[in-house]
Amino acid sequence: MNIILLGPPGSGKGTQGEILARRTGILRVSTGDVLRDAVARGTDLGRRARSYMDQGLLVPDEVIIGLLADVLASAAAARGVIMDGFPRTVKQAEAVDELLEQRGRKVDVVLLLVVPDDELERRILGRAAQAGRTDDNLDALRRRLAAYREQTEPLVDFYRRRGNLVEIPAVGSIPEIAERVRAGVGR
Ligand code: ADP
Repeated sequence: MNIILLGPPGSGKGTQGEILARRTGILRVSTGDVLRDAVARGTDLGRRARSYMDQGLLVPDEVIIGLLADVLASAAAARGVIMDGFPRTVKQAEAVDELLEQRGRKVDVVLLLVVPDDELERRILGRAAQAGRTDDNLDALRRRLAAYREQTEPLVDFYRRRGNLVEIPAVGSIPEIAERVRAGVGR
């Protein structure tokens, strides 16, 4: 089963993605985690991605699409993937479709985590104080929200038109939201 988690920064994609992965045994892939790991290890990918990430801008599509191709081709992804943090642009969404189609698969369900803006700011700034992510400051956060609105939000209509978008109200306790996610996926 191929599941996309869609939602703004701070909407809880990572937390809910991990719970869903544990429950279903489906591989979760977070492009944010893959990129942060690449930055930490100083790989070529990391060097290309770092300045965009620190500024709160999206990493260019061609870089991400190369990464997607590797992920979706891996043996671990054969039973499907929980996509956390991608696709983030229409171009990436088209690439995901194409890469899955080559394997006779498709996007089965898109879960949109819905959280009001003021709650998002509160969550991300709280996380900045704790985890020390280099992109969790107010300027980068505002740019990440703007990038989401401009480049990622169009995907909501893209998938809604296709009829596989499920909206999940993502305010409440983590287990409550996880239960809505479970119901949305139907397993
Ligand atoms: P958040 O959802 O909290 O913004 P992520 O960990 O998903 O955090 O992403 C962190 C950063 O990594 C993004 O701001 C962006 O620079 C980069 N990134 C992650 N996924 C993608 C993607 N699919 N396309 C472009 N850039 C991405």
